Amino acid sequence: KKIEPKKDVYVIASDSAFAPFEYKDSDGKYKGIDVDLLTRIAELQGFKIEFKFIGFSSAMQALESGQADGMIAGMTMTDERKANYDFSDPYFQSGIQLAVAKDNKDIKEYKDLKGKTVGAKVGTESADFLEAHKKEYGYTIKSFDAADQLYDALKVGSIDAMMDDYPVIGYAVQQGQDLKTPIKREVGGEYGFAVKKGENPELREMFTEGLKELKRTGEYDKIVDKYIGSGS
Ligand code: GLN
Repeated sequence: KKIEPKKDVYVIASDSAFAPFEYKDSDGKYKGIDVDLLTRIAELQGFKIEFKFIGFSSAMQALESGQADGMIAGMTMTDERKANYDFSDPYFQSGIQLAVAKDNKDIKEYKDLKGKTVGAKVGTESADFLEAHKKEYGYTIKSFDAADQLYDALKVGSIDAMMDDYPVIGYAVQQGQDLKTPIKREVGGEYGFAVKKGENPELREMFTEGLKELKRTGEYDKIVDKYIGSGS
């Protein structure tokens, strides 16, 4: 189905570091599953995009204030968010998980977090999960604006554990970071492309249509496999 774009260029807000979905590569270019998917969808559907890799919570703010037309950032389609955003069809099945340093021996279940400090990125599903279970498990939450700060904090030991989306932790492990995931991941939500509620409906539709096309042709799997590899 061909949908007509209504803008010359759609501004797309994204995270600043969320590998393998979006990350700045050693050549200074942003790469990742989100980047490749939307770039191909825009080509197929005949619209132009301009990415702004500004960070997860900044991207949501940009969408709300109208500085961005759309958002792709490994964003989970939660019921709460559905009140403020319209989402495309889901494009990735995810979930959140706790990570600790590889040599950590005392955190094996959530209750071992009593008296510990746990980090997460501002505005994320992980941050919401930690907030919701804080009383139950008795940890302190430390918030970070960007993933590099979060992962560095765990590395230097200024936090005892952190929570993030499992494919992102998995990618970090694959890249040689000294992390492990002692607790089974939370059954998670699906990622969607978002527009502000009631705005740019054609953009959301073009995303869904393009996604269907990429799935039909097998290109979707190729893009995901390029970054994650099958089986992970
Ligand atoms: N999927 C998570 C969320 O939607 C994290 C997204 C991110 O950090 N880019 O909250």
